[in-house]
Amino acid sequence: MHNLNSLDTIAAALAYAMKIDPPEHANTANADFVRYLDESFGDTAADRVFMYNPDAIAEWVYRSYPQFLEEARLRCDLELPLSSVMPSVTPVNFATMYTGAQPVVHGIQKYTKPVLKIDTLFDALIRAGKKVAIIAYAQCSIGKIFLERDADYFIFENIEEVNAKAAEIILRDEHDFIVVYNGNYDSTMHKNGTEAPISLAELKVNSRIFGMFDEMIKTNWKGHNTLIGFAMDHGCHDIDAGCGSHGLDMDEDINIVHFYKTYTAER
Ligand SMILES: [Zn+2]
Repeated sequence: MHNLNSLDTIAAALAYAMKIDPPEHANTANADFVRYLDESFGDTAADRVFMYNPDAIAEWVYRSYPQFLEEARLRCDLELPLSSVMPSVTPVNFATMYTGAQPVVHGIQKYTKPVLKIDTLFDALIRAGKKVAIIAYAQCSIGKIFLERDADYFIFENIEEVNAKAAEIILRDEHDFIVVYNGNYDSTMHKNGTEAPISLAELKVNSRIFGMFDEMIKTNWKGHNTLIGFAMDHGCHDIDAGCGSHGLDMDEDINIVHFYKTYTAER
C-alpha cells in the first residue's frame, strides 16, 4: 500500500516552519509535520532551514537496512512516511517537493529537466526576503529545474565539491534556506543493484555526511531556530542483470520516509 501522505504536503510545511506564505499551487501542509513544528517552535518561526536531499532511498531499503542509515535517523526526531508522485523519477519528485504541486500542475511529467515555470518554494522564500542557497551538481535535477530565480546557485561537477561548499555555506551563516543534493546512492544502485554492498555503502555515506552537516549546524547556528531535513525524492527496486531502477507505480518506488529535526535558538 502507498503511504497516505503525498510528497506534495512538504512545501507548505516548510513554508509554515518559516511562517511565510506557501507557494501558490502547494497542497495543504503535512499535518504531522505541522504538529512537530508547533511543538518545537511554538509561535516563533524557523529562521534557518537546511535540506539534505539524497536520491532514491526507498522506505523498504531503510526498513531492511536501518543500520546503514542509523547516523541520520538517530540525529532526527520526526520520521515522516510519504508517497512519491508518478512517474517516480527525480525531476518530477523534486519539482513536487519544492512546489507542493502534482506533476500535472508543475509540468514535469517525465524524465526531463526544464526550468520550472510555476511558483516554487524558492520564489515564495525570495518574496518573503529570505536568502536561498542551492548546492548541486550540474547534471542533476536540482541543479537545473530551479534555476532563473534570485537565489544563490552553487553548481559543481562532483559530490565532494557540493559537500565542501555546503560546509562553507553553513559556516558562513548567511543563507536562510539551504538545499544540498547528493545522488550517490541512486547512481550506484542503478549500476549494481539496490542491495549490493557497494550500494549500501553509499547509504552509509549519505547518512554520515548528513551527520557531519548536523554537527556543524548544531555548533555554528546556536542563535537560530533551525529545521534540518534528510529528504529523498523517491524509492527504487531491482530489475534484471543486477541493476536497480525506479519510475513505476509500485510501493518499492513510491514509499519513502523523510527525517526532520529542529533546534531552538539559545538566547
Ligand atoms: Zn535514479
